[in-house]
Amino acid sequence: MAAVPILVWFRQDLRLADQRALSAALATGRPVLPVYILDDAAAGSWKRGAASRWWLHHSLTSLAKDLSDLGAPLILRRGATALHLAELTALTGATAVYCSRCYEPWAVRLETSLKDLLVKDGVELKRYSGVLLKDPETLRTQAGDPFKVYTPYWRALNASGVPAQPLPRPEAIKAVKTKIASDKLKDWALLPTRPDWAGGMREAWRPGEAGAQSNLDLFLDHALTGYSEMRNRPDMTGTSRLSPHLHFGEISPHQCWHAAALQAAKDGGRSDKGLETFHKELVWREFSYNLLSHWPDLPEQPFRKEFAAYPWAKDGKALKAWQRGATGYPIVDAGLRELWHTGWMHNRVRMVVASFLIKHLLVPWQQGEAWFWDTLVDADLASNAASWQWVAGSGADAAPYFRIFNPITQGETFDPEGIYVRRWVPEIARLPNAHLNAPWDAPQEVLRAAGIELGRTYPYPIVDHSHARERALAGYESVKAANAAKTAKTD
Ligand code: FAD
Repeated sequence: MAAVPILVWFRQDLRLADQRALSAALATGRPVLPVYILDDAAAGSWKRGAASRWWLHHSLTSLAKDLSDLGAPLILRRGATALHLAELTALTGATAVYCSRCYEPWAVRLETSLKDLLVKDGVELKRYSGVLLKDPETLRTQAGDPFKVYTPYWRALNASGVPAQPLPRPEAIKAVKTKIASDKLKDWALLPTRPDWAGGMREAWRPGEAGAQSNLDLFLDHALTGYSEMRNRPDMTGTSRLSPHLHFGEISPHQCWHAAALQAAKDGGRSDKGLETFHKELVWREFSYNLLSHWPDLPEQPFRKEFAAYPWAKDGKALKAWQRGATGYPIVDAGLRELWHTGWMHNRVRMVVASFLIKHLLVPWQQGEAWFWDTLVDADLASNAASWQWVAGSGADAAPYFRIFNPITQGETFDPEGIYVRRWVPEIARLPNAHLNAPWDAPQEVLRAAGIELGRTYPYPIVDHSHARERALAGYESVKAANAAKTAKTD
């Protein structure tokens, strides 16, 4: 009698190495059917944005090739996950579905509903960890509560033991023999057509497991040693650029964690500081998932509820200018143009542009979060929501509200030679460094010599920095006053 197959349901784990669900299925010796299902309805308002869809297309192409090289075709289906899994288990006679756990609220709901549905048909759903170093529910404060503060989370994660060692990539896959119908990836229309805005992304990225490994290798060889200092410099390649690869699971955090530790051990102490900082950044990702798991409305609602009373401005024009990179503040415009062109933005600049939108323009953080969701190739529900709330001051363990990034000094400090700004805002490239971050302050003759006519070749600043700062702080005072009044009423 033929062995009973197992369905391996790929989700945010589009890789073969350190793929616990796949390895567990192969270890049984039973034939395996790899499946990917695009279920936009289950994700609801958090279905993938345009840049993520571009990435997904290429990541699936890469995964399908890697699987087929090992003898197993990847079956693609679009629509309701439950229906497809039920149909595929019935067609193949599979009695189990193996997958990696996901933590988005909609994904958790889907897993719960599937468990019941599949069990009715005698099919077992087995979920494996692998998206995160540690499952969020395993780390609690001494009082048994979820963590709200990063540093104790970092300590608890370390105290809970070294993350599991990565598993090797399988050398062969025993595939299901039955011919199963699969969608054609191109029919999913994940790529842009007219206009094709993905040229910059094609230049910047190589989605897939091999591209992920190559970014990790480059980082370890060239940037780990100086990471703790250089990670704040958008004018240099001082970070790993692993975020989209981690988001899609083309590489696991375990692989990154251990490969960096191995490299630091080889470096004889030179990279110890860089290693610790890199591990800490990987744990910021974990901490964001911890927040999302315990506070599922994090992407929509302020974590600190009093911020719901913030007096936002209703100015659609300001949001549009920000999205287009036309605010008149060079570091802000550079970041938003980098994002539009490559689908990615340096972390330091993400903080600057987010602070600018929320505090200089008084646009609700959710609108910036939505723009990032559509345009980032690493758009990630947990990291995006937690980071926007961090900048807004409304999040758990957030930056204090009164920390308002000054876009002029941020540019001067972190892009001192203006390499980043000149690359993304070429129309002001001929300004001398002294005026690059505040063109409106440059004398007329300097502007003329640089070929700039403010208001025509480059915008005047959309808002005055000092005025905006005072206005934002006044808004915060009004939140405090509204909440004090509320507390007094309920006392
Ligand atoms: P590295 O510096 O090399 O860090 C290594 C890895 O650690 C990253 O790939 C990432 O997975 C993780 N990491 C680093 N910093 C953070 C952080 N602050 N929070 C969570 N994880 C972190 N990151 C996303 O992956 N997706 C998002 O949608 C996202 N949205 C953001 C929105 C805002 C407003 C801000 C301020 C930050 C956001 N980040 C997001 C976090 C961070 O900017 C990116 O993870 C980082 O820039 C990715 O570049 P890298 O891979 O070179 O990072």
